[in-house]
Amino acid sequence: MSRINEVCSRVGRDRSNIRILPVTKTFPIEAVQFALDFGFNAVGENRVQEVASKQGGYRGKIIWELIGHLQGNKVNLALEHFDKIQSVDSIKLINRLGRAVEERGMQLPIQLQFNTGDDPAKYGFSTNDMKPALDAVLQFPGLQLEGLMTIAPLTEDKSIVRDTFARLNTLKKQIEGEYKLSLAELSMGMSGDLEMAIEEGSTCIRVGTALFGKRS
Ligand SMILES: *Cc1c(COP(=O)(O)O)cnc(C)c1O
Repeated sequence: MSRINEVCSRVGRDRSNIRILPVTKTFPIEAVQFALDFGFNAVGENRVQEVASKQGGYRGKIIWELIGHLQGNKVNLALEHFDKIQSVDSIKLINRLGRAVEERGMQLPIQLQFNTGDDPAKYGFSTNDMKPALDAVLQFPGLQLEGLMTIAPLTEDKSIVRDTFARLNTLKKQIEGEYKLSLAELSMGMSGDLEMAIEEGSTCIRVGTALFGKRS
């Protein structure tokens, strides 16, 4: 994707620090094969049930990352079908995942989703919830906190989008300082706003339409 190279050279970022997560939601399983053929090792999906019905033999072939809201009653189904959950968005969900992971004796990489755009239409912690969220995660050794995730509000106002990304980056640094841990992932940016996300420090852009075309 030349758009990524262009913004990397413009802002002096190393291309190898930014990964593309192909988002295959609503597309048939062939999109996952397409991602594999192109050398991607992970795909993003936003609905547990959709994946449960289409995943088939692809369960162990590629890393499945959940990027959509997870209802508490689907935690067990999610653990069967996903390797990583980027969209951990409530204390209740942290506790449910933590207990489920403990029971299974497994490790689960997660990211905390923050609604740094203060968008009423989006899930995610508010920045004020940072401490309780972190304290909840750290209770469970089976939850491996890899980073943070956000979705920018759908708006024409570019400054709101930039603020959303910049705030997530600030929050990451704050957490790293206060909790003495290192968060590798800053998942922000989609087809429409990936340049700005990279400018603001994204390490993972989640790309659907720019790779696979419009969703019907
Ligand atoms: C659908 C989706 C994407 C990809 O969006 P595109 O605009 O198609 O690139 C990224 N992140 C999340 C959370 C999504 O639900």
